[in-house]
Amino acid sequence: MPKITPAPRAASHLFYQSRLRRPLVDRAEGIYLWDQAGNRYIDGSSGAMVVNIGHGNRHVIETMKKQLDKVTFAYRLHFENEPAEDLARRISTYMPAGMDKVFFVSGGSEAVESCLKFARQYALAIGQSRRWKVISRFPSYHGGTLGALAVTGYAALTDPFRPMMKEMPSIPAPTAYLDRDNFSMEERGLRYADKLEEAILAEGPEEVLAFIMEPIGGASTGALVAPDSYYSRVREICDRYGVLLIHDEVMSGVGRTGKFLGGDHWNCRPDLIALSKGFGSGYSPLGAMVAPSRMVQPVLDHGGFQHGYTYAGNPLACAAGGAVLDEIERHDLVGNAAAMGELLKAELVALAARYPFIGDVRGKGLLLAAEFVSDKSTMRPLPKEKNAFQRVVDIAYDKGLIIYSRRTRGGVEGDHFLVCPPMIITRDEIVEIANMLDDTLRQLASELDL
Ligand code: PLP
Repeated sequence: MPKITPAPRAASHLFYQSRLRRPLVDRAEGIYLWDQAGNRYIDGSSGAMVVNIGHGNRHVIETMKKQLDKVTFAYRLHFENEPAEDLARRISTYMPAGMDKVFFVSGGSEAVESCLKFARQYALAIGQSRRWKVISRFPSYHGGTLGALAVTGYAALTDPFRPMMKEMPSIPAPTAYLDRDNFSMEERGLRYADKLEEAILAEGPEEVLAFIMEPIGGASTGALVAPDSYYSRVREICDRYGVLLIHDEVMSGVGRTGKFLGGDHWNCRPDLIALSKGFGSGYSPLGAMVAPSRMVQPVLDHGGFQHGYTYAGNPLACAAGGAVLDEIERHDLVGNAAAMGELLKAELVALAARYPFIGDVRGKGLLLAAEFVSDKSTMRPLPKEKNAFQRVVDIAYDKGLIIYSRRTRGGVEGDHFLVCPPMIITRDEIVEIANMLDDTLRQLASELDL
């Protein structure tokens, strides 16, 4: 009996054009979920790269229960609350030096919106009122609200709403692995970063407010990692033109890549950081913008940040976030993500050697992706009609493995899938995932004639 059946669904909270009907979830624990028919699934994508500490964590649940008994909501203009204060203090110790102010929100889009609006208010506060343009990368994903969408490079999501958004400039994401030229990877990294300088000059440096990027790409690029040279060159360029650097760490942050922040792999010094997903680890909607005092003070001196959300910083969400951090620290889950990520990547590389249609394996820690190609030497994508990105997910799902996929990459469309299990994963479970992927890819190859 296949676990997924054709749509339509009778009543649904999802307003998607539903291709397939998924079963009703029953319960979850560790890296596993069960549906109401008793089928077990490995959560090989941590939901949407969210449940970093795994499902059903008793410490988080008990902490939330205690908080429920005390106070669940107190409006931020009426009261401060201890869970929020504690969490802000603790999270700032993981941030680059000087980033000591935390503005809580309830999700990734809100975190990105907050960064964009805060950057603008900071520019106003320091007398740079002409700066408003935010340069982003294509492809990229920064959220579904109109501001975050305006800096998102993902045509299917942005096109319907173009008339409602302010057009923002973009530069190509550093898809150096696709380039077929004589430059070294490091030279390519510099050339991609230099596109930022070209864009700033073309837009007029006095009008450019910020550059937003995911230090390690999420679903839109399939865990894209730029050549090392890229990161410091981007910082240099931003400094040269007084452009703020915003790191969207919504997916790459809170340990997923084997360091607390994705940018920590290169000692990055962004001006603003957006966090969410693993921050609340699925136990509560939670996100944050992190900023340095040197930027917050001028905004406070000019009347404060004209922005906020009703649910932001509520005691229950922050208590959950604190307990998530306890678990990350107690079990060294960042270290485990690094170690298990190495293992999982090696398994993916082995699969790539076995299947000629896997052209690239990339990512860091447990934010990993594999890309499908028609031909490894040219990196030509698979034909769109094969729908490989959807089939791979459906085949894996029927085998009890949840993975994530997209059809996007640099200028050309291509298919990739992401494997991003919870950071509590063990060696044996990695091997189990690798075996299930092997079965999945074998079936995919025969179905699609690859
Ligand atoms: N930024 C990145 C990098 C993301 O991956 C996402 C979501 O996938 C978002 C922002 C938006 O987060 P949310 O869906 O929580 O609003």
